[in-house]
Amino acid sequence: MSFENLIRDVYLKIKNTEDPGEMASYIPELSKVDPTNFGVHISTINQINFGTGNCYDKFSIQSIAKVLALVLAYRLVGAEIWKRVGVEPSGTAFNSLVQLEADKGIPRNPFLNAGAIVVSDILVSNLKNPKEDFIDFVRSISKNPALEYSNIIAQSEKNVGYRNVALCNFIKSYGQIENDPSDVLDFYYDLCSLEMSCKELSELFLFLANNGRDIKTNRSVLSESQSKRINALMQTCGFYDESGEFAFKVGLPGKSGVGGGIIAIHPDQYAIAVWSPKLNKKGNSLKGMKFLEEFTTRSELSIF
Ligand code: GLN
Repeated sequence: MSFENLIRDVYLKIKNTEDPGEMASYIPELSKVDPTNFGVHISTINQINFGTGNCYDKFSIQSIAKVLALVLAYRLVGAEIWKRVGVEPSGTAFNSLVQLEADKGIPRNPFLNAGAIVVSDILVSNLKNPKEDFIDFVRSISKNPALEYSNIIAQSEKNVGYRNVALCNFIKSYGQIENDPSDVLDFYYDLCSLEMSCKELSELFLFLANNGRDIKTNRSVLSESQSKRINALMQTCGFYDESGEFAFKVGLPGKSGVGGGIIAIHPDQYAIAVWSPKLNKKGNSLKGMKFLEEFTTRSELSIF
């Protein structure tokens, strides 16, 4: 069956199932989104692009943006980055503080809030105008000048970002944050407020299915080895304490965000983005995970 027909089929099946998930209400603005939104979009290295449902509607990509921050920091400082942040799955929630004390301010991986705050610190140190330079980078690799932050979402998170303030200050107490915590956190909130549609996401992330190269220009966003490592981290750490479950059920490198988005990569094949705002208990899109489980099972393509 073609990807188009399979996506149509699985979409209709999952759309009509009950969704016991909950919206991410800890960021007030996120809970205003219509919970019935559901979109899917695939971009393949053979240049097939297909989407259905709310695949052209923009949403808050939240932690999916942590991958883009890591990509830029990796380009800027290379392997030095692994002195500041680990590459191990954590088995803890995305906003957990518990391991940081034992690990002396070196977060387990770059996709935890703690890890992305350290990556943000690296970007604040290495970019002249971090907020502008980062969005310019994302626009340039996507060739999409329409991409924007949402000031409303960033401000909404900043107003209640008590745990992230705690994480950043705690890491700073170990000497592992170079800049003023408020500058690092402002950048982090802007980063998480990036908005994209499923279509924009699957197009943007396709380079990770193509050994780090832009599919149209063949220019390198990352080296082949760097691109593999980002995929390895998404596979092992992209879903926090549900990363094992995602590998087991879906079997692809991927990354979720509390806005209900998921991006998943099938190396040498495709990037697929799903959006459904209601989350399971681990903070990952409930229908998004169900969709991808059914899609990868029925397409019988796997990296394993
Ligand atoms: N901005 C969110 C936070 O810091 C990102 C969390 C997520 O998407 N898992 O809590």
